[in-house]
Amino acid sequence: MKKPVIGISSSVMVDNGGMFPGYERAYVNKDYVDAVVNNGGVPFIIPLTGDKEVIKAQIEMVDALILSGGHDVYPLNYNEEPKQRIGQVFPERDYYDFELLKNAKKKGIPILGVCRGLQIMNVYEGGSLYQDLSYIDGEVLKHSQNDRTILKTHTVELSKKSKLYKIFKLEKFLINSFHHQAINRVGKNFEVVARAKDGVIEAIEYKDYPFYVGVQWHPEMLAKTDDLMKKLFKEFINMSKKVGNKNE
Ligand code: MN
Repeated sequence: MKKPVIGISSSVMVDNGGMFPGYERAYVNKDYVDAVVNNGGVPFIIPLTGDKEVIKAQIEMVDALILSGGHDVYPLNYNEEPKQRIGQVFPERDYYDFELLKNAKKKGIPILGVCRGLQIMNVYEGGSLYQDLSYIDGEVLKHSQNDRTILKTHTVELSKKSKLYKIFKLEKFLINSFHHQAINRVGKNFEVVARAKDGVIEAIEYKDYPFYVGVQWHPEMLAKTDDLMKKLFKEFINMSKKVGNKNE
């Protein structure tokens, strides 16, 4: 059986030093690439473009889609004006991510959203975000750890009825956390399957779809050392294999 091709959404980095100040580079964090390679897939970085037809063709080439982390979602995409504590936004990337999602859903391939990836999925399906965790009433845990990427800093509680439970087989485990935003209104057809102890949503799953799942933590960073997150990538890549071979 051929190894499945796992598309990874990318971003644009502006180079502010060196030979070409202000120069734009297409990139993705290497942990995504490593997590795919180490768990049986062929990584394929999907460059950001605003060309609908090109995005459609990009999705035609992959057996699964990972929506990677990054910028805050542009708040006007969920009908809110920007608040004081919003971070940097990149509406061109929102457009590209929405088009990736639209085409991936149409094709029926497994989709995994990481951090911003979860947030963009939620907004794509009509949900909204807290522009900053400080806008949530009551005390909120520290979700943007100032620590190593592989350090697990807070607990998540997972529903036994979820797809993620079938992979992890644990109702409670520790994860890393690098987000200052969170889901507010949950998008249509999404089910909340994991929360932190403060109630912040940590994972969502789309009903009536084989695998369309978002996690608020960074499994690709943990997968270097953590067996649990390796399992997530192994299972995700396994599922993609089935889809990939069916489409041939
Ligand atoms: Mn968190």
